[in-house]
Amino acid sequence: MENEKMSLENMYRELGISQKVLNFGLKIEEELKERFASIDETAEYNQMKVIKAMQKARVSDIHFAATTGYGYNDLGRDVLEEVYARTFHGEAALVRPQLMSGTHALHVALSGNLRPGDELLSPVGKPYDTLEEVIGIRDSAGSLKEYGIEYRQVDLLSEGSFDYEGIKQAVNERTKLVTIQRSKGYATRPTLSVRQIGELISFVKTLKPDVICMVDNCYGEFVERIEPTDVGADMIVGSLIKNPGGGLAPIGGYLVGRKDCIERASYRLSAPGLGKEVGASLGLNQSFFQGLFLAPTVVAGALKGAIFAANVYEHLGYPVVPDGKEARHDIIQAVTLGSPEAVIAFCQGIQAAAPVDSFVTPEPWDMPGYDAPVVMAAGAFVQGSSIELSADAPIKEPYAVFFQGGLTWYHAKLGILMSLQKLTDKGISLPNVNFF
Ligand SMILES: *Cc1c(COP(=O)(O)O)cnc(C)c1O
Repeated sequence: MENEKMSLENMYRELGISQKVLNFGLKIEEELKERFASIDETAEYNQMKVIKAMQKARVSDIHFAATTGYGYNDLGRDVLEEVYARTFHGEAALVRPQLMSGTHALHVALSGNLRPGDELLSPVGKPYDTLEEVIGIRDSAGSLKEYGIEYRQVDLLSEGSFDYEGIKQAVNERTKLVTIQRSKGYATRPTLSVRQIGELISFVKTLKPDVICMVDNCYGEFVERIEPTDVGADMIVGSLIKNPGGGLAPIGGYLVGRKDCIERASYRLSAPGLGKEVGASLGLNQSFFQGLFLAPTVVAGALKGAIFAANVYEHLGYPVVPDGKEARHDIIQAVTLGSPEAVIAFCQGIQAAAPVDSFVTPEPWDMPGYDAPVVMAAGAFVQGSSIELSADAPIKEPYAVFFQGGLTWYHAKLGILMSLQKLTDKGISLPNVNFF
């Protein structure tokens, strides 16, 4: 009886994972030991980086106190921004609950630093879906295009490398800001390594030294030991309900980089003349500090989940990006399942493994900012948080699911096992069924 109770297998069975799925998962996990050890080393390094920044900034419990109203002299907010600047090696930071999402933070960075007549260039292809309306690639009220800011794009070459010749032709005297998206987002191109981003920035700066290089750092924070600010980025921008919030930040975005760039962005966020001086932190500072403190280990758990998913689905015969062996530069895993039924079943498995809302069944819906219905699984403590275990799939060809997050590796593992369980329960035929 005691043994029955204590058996992990039994526990998985009670959660709905069959012995066959579990055995398959354990076999895959066994092959990943070395990779997981190297992820833990990166997490250890980044943990020290964060602790060092917190010590240098002399974080103290008074910084966790709430402010209200205008938020003048919000000590905690100012020290939090110093910690972000130190952690990511920038001169200044803007880290606020008033930055409502990653898209908002990127909009503030772009619109704060661009002026009518300027050009914005993306040398890495089409940016993340929600930025299409920010920029005006898809017409939208209030887009940069409406304010007279032109947009140019140079696509990656077919093998995913930079089109240096195309970039050289695109950069001109009006090019003010170059936006570089680190993560693939909902595309199937490879995610860029920080080193590749550094090479691209060096090239752009040889063409035009005063151009502002901004990196959309969403999903990339703490995956490597260096960040784009270590290789010449003038600004990095991201969401606190992804990596750097560590699962604890209930809202927020951040910008880190050159002081003048951050200041211009701050005048856009609040108002000209006000900038960083206003913005009450409303009692959220402790979760921002503590979330950043936990972020390196949370990111490590999410990375292990992504690599596990890649290996599970690759062995089953599905195309996966990145593949099971590749080095990682963000926490996203794409799996091309090839049919609407399969991506929906996958997402339902992720949902069924959640600590919150495990009993609901995700269905596709028309999300604002996206051009096709999206099915999303997220049994999250923070609504829409994608550092928590989550999966999204636009219901369009090639029917790929984008999987990310997991506050702990064990939860990510359960989620992936459950996704496979749902696929087999629904009788979806696995391409490589013999392996299973
Ligand atoms: C998530 C994401 C965004 C937008 O962030 P939201 O918080 O969803 O608005 C932008 N760029 C990339 C690469 C992302 O992954």
